[in-house]
Amino acid sequence: MTVKELIAKFEYAANNPNALLDGYLKEGKKVIGCFPVYTPKEIVHASGMIPMGTWGGNTSIERAKEYFPAFCCSIIQAIMEYGLKGSFKGLSGAIIPCHCDTLITLTQNWKSGVKEIPMIGFAFPQNRKIQAGKDYLVSEYATVKTKLEELCGHEITDESIQASIAVYNEHRKVMNEFVKLVPDYLNTITPRVRNYVLKSAHFMKVEEHTALVKELIAGLKAMPKEDFKGKKIITSGIILDDKGLLEVFEANNMAIVADDVAQETRQFRTLIPEGGSALERMAQWWADVEGCSLAYDPAKLRGRMVAEDAKKLGADGVVYALMKFCDPEEYDYPIFKKDMEEAEIPHLFIEIEQGTTSIEQIRTRIQTFAEILA
Ligand code: SF4
Repeated sequence: MTVKELIAKFEYAANNPNALLDGYLKEGKKVIGCFPVYTPKEIVHASGMIPMGTWGGNTSIERAKEYFPAFCCSIIQAIMEYGLKGSFKGLSGAIIPCHCDTLITLTQNWKSGVKEIPMIGFAFPQNRKIQAGKDYLVSEYATVKTKLEELCGHEITDESIQASIAVYNEHRKVMNEFVKLVPDYLNTITPRVRNYVLKSAHFMKVEEHTALVKELIAGLKAMPKEDFKGKKIITSGIILDDKGLLEVFEANNMAIVADDVAQETRQFRTLIPEGGSALERMAQWWADVEGCSLAYDPAKLRGRMVAEDAKKLGADGVVYALMKFCDPEEYDYPIFKKDMEEAEIPHLFIEIEQGTTSIEQIRTRIQTFAEILA
């Protein structure tokens, strides 16, 4: 396939998760919904079921208002709305990782409002680097595994999870290679295209996505490196997949050279390490994660990591996209801001919300930021 054809495939997958879900169901597969931010997809994959991410979407919130106050983040409100409206029909189960108060609340609201899709909730430990934290996460993963076994009807062995870890680590490596290549092809890999490649990973079968990204990497490498004349930025936040917003970057001649976004690079930048049982390895992975607002970090490395990337990649600026009402991201921002100022990297703070983001206001702010960078 040509690079253009490959991009069209990623775009389709990113924009049509329901069509992909229907396809999996027609193949006779069971599908498990994986809610943000980090679900143990390896265990689902090892069961033979298909893990499929859901990150909310642009829908008007009506019925979810009965379950959540207005000051809960829009991702979770959108997920609940889709659940209540039956958009997730066909899922055999849904895994909800309790990273924050809103996700904890979602577990109970889901049980009450979306009874037809069984919910598997589990918690990540805050003290993730000490042995007790790792032991706790192993026990949480074991509970998830038991509940998935009830849904798939057979045992999920350590051996099969180890094999799935290998499949996902391969995907992580390929995705890391892709994002590192992007800065050389910023005319082709625009902010929207970059997002299609990254977002589609949540919906496609992992093996298929890995193969397509490998093909895209080969296609890009066969092209001469591109000379990008605009401004290079790094994005940071939970999610930044609003088409209108990405178009605003493009209209202002900005390209994304790297991201620190939970839905994007944070998903794959840390590999699951070797050593121990499958669940122990996965618990060690959580201990190894750095620079994520959801992973407790007294050293608060996030800002410094982004500053380092910005220097390395010659980025002109950084955009901190705060998901409105997201406490973990709100707590990170003052420290992040200080890190940007100390590193003398211009940054823009914007607040985003699924469904109701006022693009006009943000357009003006991005336009002004682009002028400052010029
Ligand atoms: S965006 Fe923030 S508040 Fe919302 S679910 Fe994610 S971590 Fe929780």
